[in-house]
Amino acid sequence: MDDKVFSMDDEVFSFFKRLAESPSPSGFEQPAQRVWREYVGTHTDEVGSDVMGNTWGVVAGAERPRVMLAGHVDEIWLMVRYIDDQGFLYFAPIGGVDAHLLPGQRVWVHGRDGAHLGTIGRKPIHLLEQDERSKVAKIKDLAIDIGARDRAEAEARVAVGDAATFAVGLERLGDDRVVSRGLDDKMGSFVVGEALRRLAGVRDDLRCSVYGVSTVQEEIGLRGAKTSAFGIDPDLGICVEVTFATDHPGVDKKSVGDVQVGKGPVISRGANINPRVFELLREAAEAEGIPLQVEAAPRGTGTDANVMQLTRSGVATALIQVPLRYMHTPSEVLSLSDLEGAVRLLVAFLRRVRPDTDWIPQ
Ligand SMILES: [Zn+2]
Repeated sequence: MDDKVFSMDDEVFSFFKRLAESPSPSGFEQPAQRVWREYVGTHTDEVGSDVMGNTWGVVAGAERPRVMLAGHVDEIWLMVRYIDDQGFLYFAPIGGVDAHLLPGQRVWVHGRDGAHLGTIGRKPIHLLEQDERSKVAKIKDLAIDIGARDRAEAEARVAVGDAATFAVGLERLGDDRVVSRGLDDKMGSFVVGEALRRLAGVRDDLRCSVYGVSTVQEEIGLRGAKTSAFGIDPDLGICVEVTFATDHPGVDKKSVGDVQVGKGPVISRGANINPRVFELLREAAEAEGIPLQVEAAPRGTGTDANVMQLTRSGVATALIQVPLRYMHTPSEVLSLSDLEGAVRLLVAFLRRVRPDTDWIPQ
């Protein structure tokens, strides 16, 4: 699959691109949720949102088993914390932001009346002291310049508490890959939305109900999936997330494992994963000829799968992942054929879920 030109239906690709490009820092996900809701709403029985901002679509079959799918739509990045007299915006990170990446980058500050372009300044190399050159700038010392003459002009456009994202979109990279910010995890939100669309087309084959959720606030503590899982009360939970690809310079396979872009979706094994769900995923992939990679997850994962599994008296949970290079940078890279593999795997799995399947490990 790695070497073939991958073609995705235009409408489907456009949904993915719009979702990736719509700003959705944790707590500010609504622009991306509107894109998701519109796409999913035209294909499923029911869409809705809750007070947290989680947005779901339902393909209804039997009342039980009930399957929750979760892909988080939120992305990391920045929040304006203080505006100084000269109109510079000091900021806090939203989620795990690597300070290495920030100086010299352009950002959109999402103000009340729309997005305002800004740049994160950096003192010229000529003016850096010798020891400053080898140090990482601290986030508290960096500021966004939006071209304002002073504080009043800045405050006319932006306010304390506004969120900012890198000013980059989604582009194709070679034949089969894309580069974008926020693929963690708008990829997962996309896979859930696209799987719902395809499931709606085969609903007569389904022996379960599917609640697909584009979850919020994952990057700041798995917060949206926690309340959503409680509300949906599922029997099964499948989280769709990115995982670390280890096929690029600087990553050690001995400590992270062997995960390659373009070699298919990844399923995890370990305590966070119900062994019967894992086996059914593997069977479905084999039957449909979907290439699959397996990853070791020796403890609870840092994903929505963790809170889904621990909901109420426990949920039979699994994790489908897509390999991602350069996670939490504005230039994350993944393979479209892996993405398609993840959608197909999800659909194939759900068509095999039966009301009498016993998910209790034996
Ligand atoms: Zn994620």
